[in-house]
Amino acid sequence: MVYPIVKYGEPVLEREADDVTEFDTPELHKFIEDMFESMYAAKGVGLAAPQIGVGKKVAVIDVSNGENPKDKLVLINPRILKIEGKQVGEEGCLSIPGFREHVRRGKRVTVRAQNGRGEWFEMTGEDLLARAFLHETDHLYGRLYITHVSALKRDLIRRKVRKLQKAGDWS
Ligand SMILES: [Zn+2]
Repeated sequence: MVYPIVKYGEPVLEREADDVTEFDTPELHKFIEDMFESMYAAKGVGLAAPQIGVGKKVAVIDVSNGENPKDKLVLINPRILKIEGKQVGEEGCLSIPGFREHVRRGKRVTVRAQNGRGEWFEMTGEDLLARAFLHETDHLYGRLYITHVSALKRDLIRRKVRKLQKAGDWS
């Protein structure tokens, strides 16, 4: 099932999601599959549950865009353990469509998370994967990537989004 993507302005995107406490249930496995489906439908490389209106700490990532099954990652209750180096690159978000900004992020990032069966694992990613770990984990703590750009740029985006909302072009 493909869920519609919730857009910037919805409170669920800016509050910390709840920890997942029940694992390996048919509901959770189905939800994870639906998240992948929703992410591929929206042509994203990552999706966090709050982006489909569900305040739970679940995120999916696939930096290969569905090309390589090995790149399908599920992060439940993730925490960033280590950030090394720096990269600056353009970043966007399915919940803030039409905008992209340069964001400085770590180049090499280690995350600790649980999978759908509740097993903990650690994984280190570089470049785009490192960026996805940070971007999606941020989502689960209510932080959008625009919190990492200058106040000036953030205000500009806010104002443009407000205009779109008023015009009825943002829902
Ligand atoms: Zn996002």
